[in-house]
Amino acid sequence: MNVIRHRSQLRDFLSRVEGPRVLVPTMGALHDGHLALLAKAREVAGNQGTVVVSIFVNPMQFDSKTDLAAYPRNEEGDLAACNEADVDVVFIPVEGEMYEADCSVTVNEERLSAGLCGSTRPGHFDGVWTVVLKLFLLSNCDVAVFGEKDMQQLAIIRRMIRDLDISVKIVTHPTLREADGLAMSSRNARLNDQYRADAPRIYRALSEAAKKSSLEEILTHARIEIEASGLARIDYLQVVDAQNLEPLKSLDTAAILAVAVFYGDVRLIDHVLIPSC
Ligand code: AMP
Repeated sequence: MNVIRHRSQLRDFLSRVEGPRVLVPTMGALHDGHLALLAKAREVAGNQGTVVVSIFVNPMQFDSKTDLAAYPRNEEGDLAACNEADVDVVFIPVEGEMYEADCSVTVNEERLSAGLCGSTRPGHFDGVWTVVLKLFLLSNCDVAVFGEKDMQQLAIIRRMIRDLDISVKIVTHPTLREADGLAMSSRNARLNDQYRADAPRIYRALSEAAKKSSLEEILTHARIEIEASGLARIDYLQVVDAQNLEPLKSLDTAAILAVAVFYGDVRLIDHVLIPSC
């Protein structure tokens, strides 16, 4: 396995490989959800192809310095996990490597980013698209693998690929959950015992609410169940159109019930599909 820390070296290395280049962008602190993406990438790349994993806690997508500083990091464990997963290249840029000091061009998307996480984390998604596009270009990847957990991110990456004529194929993987239903996330490691014990209520509440027949009942049920213990604070709770992520007023199309919840300063996201009636 090759560990690369500079952009120019990544470009050089990947310009010399044969077969498909398959990229898995991550922010590290790898868990089983990430490992499922790595396995998928290996399958797609085959023996001839190259699996590239990027590990970069991207400052541009954090709206709070405290959140950035508190984000879990585990370089040693991540490298061991990547090695075990038969990854070919790990790109872990050194501090200050990814952006020029006077970087002034970023990618901006205004429609799909308007609601959900985009409305409560200003600037977050511009940071995501910018780094994802840079990683696409640096790796010259043919395929990139993303998790369905970050549903809004995935929708907008697809839109960026479409609107900017980027020739990268997207492969996705369903959300991996703990045995109690909590969506796996690097941020789960920051939950204290009380919050961790409470957090499975998020998915339970969403799953039960999604069976209700009206939009109002869905939102009311989910809100009551998530807030029942008094520990979770809802950042947003919305039913949106599964295609364009716009808020829905009635349930006449396939929809997504999406939530962001704070336990203390730890913010978790999750969503479920509501099939069209
Ligand atoms: P992150 O390191 O959180 O930026 O995530 C990197 C990639 O892993 C993204 O494509 C996420 O959607 C994906 N991912 C994170 N958590 C999970 C999960 N529980 N199941 C599947 N994919 C995940």
